[in-house]
Amino acid sequence: MSDSLQSTDEQAEQPPETPLDTARYQLDKAASLIEVDENIIERLSHPTSVHEVTVPLKRDDGTVDVFSGYRAQHDSVRGPYKGGLRYHPHVDREEVIGLSMWMTWKCAVVDLPFGGAKGGINVDPKALSDGEIERLTRRFTNELRNVIGPQTDIPAPDMGTNAQTMAWIMDTYSIQEAETAPAVVTGKPIAVGGSEGRQEAPGRSVAIISRELLEYYDRPLSETTVAVQGFGSVGANAARLLEEWGATVVAVSDVNGAAYDLTGLDTSGIPSHDQEPEAVTEYAEDTISNAALLELDVDLLVPAALGNVITEGNADDIRADFVVEGANGPTTFTADSILTDRGIHVVPDILANAGGVTVSYFEWVQDINHRTWSLDRVNEELEAVMIDAWDAVRREVENRGVTWREAAYIVGVSRIAAAHESRGLWP
Ligand code: GLU
Repeated sequence: MSDSLQSTDEQAEQPPETPLDTARYQLDKAASLIEVDENIIERLSHPTSVHEVTVPLKRDDGTVDVFSGYRAQHDSVRGPYKGGLRYHPHVDREEVIGLSMWMTWKCAVVDLPFGGAKGGINVDPKALSDGEIERLTRRFTNELRNVIGPQTDIPAPDMGTNAQTMAWIMDTYSIQEAETAPAVVTGKPIAVGGSEGRQEAPGRSVAIISRELLEYYDRPLSETTVAVQGFGSVGANAARLLEEWGATVVAVSDVNGAAYDLTGLDTSGIPSHDQEPEAVTEYAEDTISNAALLELDVDLLVPAALGNVITEGNADDIRADFVVEGANGPTTFTADSILTDRGIHVVPDILANAGGVTVSYFEWVQDINHRTWSLDRVNEELEAVMIDAWDAVRREVENRGVTWREAAYIVGVSRIAAAHESRGLWP
């Protein structure tokens, strides 16, 4: 998918925008819109620390491969570092720093007492057996042992990792600490302290924010067509909820392409990545490419697969009226201004998919209090957090006449800056 989506002529001539470039452009833009001490902005342009570790893996055939692992900790002024670990061949130092900055703003937009972090291993997990992934994960946990912890830095799933990966991290860390420490990671299986509703949460928040956005612009869900790129836990749950609430989902995709039906797909009949990986097109009568999905003439487009899919190369061809970002960083900074100039409303990742880290927070609260919440309670509290965040962002849109992305950054960066202001710089 990435090749067909990203190999435009323009990108061949100039280096693509990295997540760190995008994150820094966005921070500078937000800073230019608010009254905030420029020294704090300078400080926030850099991560607090970046841990780079070597992760050797004994392969099933007895040979040893060596991988690079990272954990970038951006800011912890409001609470412990929080953010996912991804296993993907793109992972590098710059990517995790950029993604860790987005986690800082995301946690602040939904007003959680967490800071921002992100990490991962530069590896293609599809090329490894389950046993190899387990050994890699346990060794990575060992290398990060002094970096992570229930009160310091709490990882979670991201691209290429899942609840099982978190269970291995929790087990390895717990054995080393000689105590059962479920709160060291979130997004775990329910059996070891995971939360009801955690896996569905980012998709649920994308659906909630899409619903609020459409209502704000007087567009009834029953008259809304939707295309969703990516059918993992974010895309599949968002598509299914939007369909349940009355929208017509005309296209959903995975790495092989998109299922397409102008009259509306039955999204529960198409297996999500967790149910059957990469099988979307096998369940489709008509298929189109991922590039074509992004350019469909729909009301709402939800990019919920990779980062950097809406670029300078295709932003002029996006025909949706609304874009709600399910993936982290699907729109480059340059593409974002093209979409804005064209009158397309884009709701950013740091608001739309923040349901994931919000239910991670609920999971952590349950773990440290040794209590469990029902699914109804989780979904009710998630709805309340998302509506509060939506209202805070909407007020900035209305009061300052800025875009949804600028408004979300204003909310997030202002909260972080206020905390830095109060705590001061020591020494
Ligand atoms: N990886 C998810 C994100 O990007 C979740 C992070 C978390 O729950 O800590 O928001």
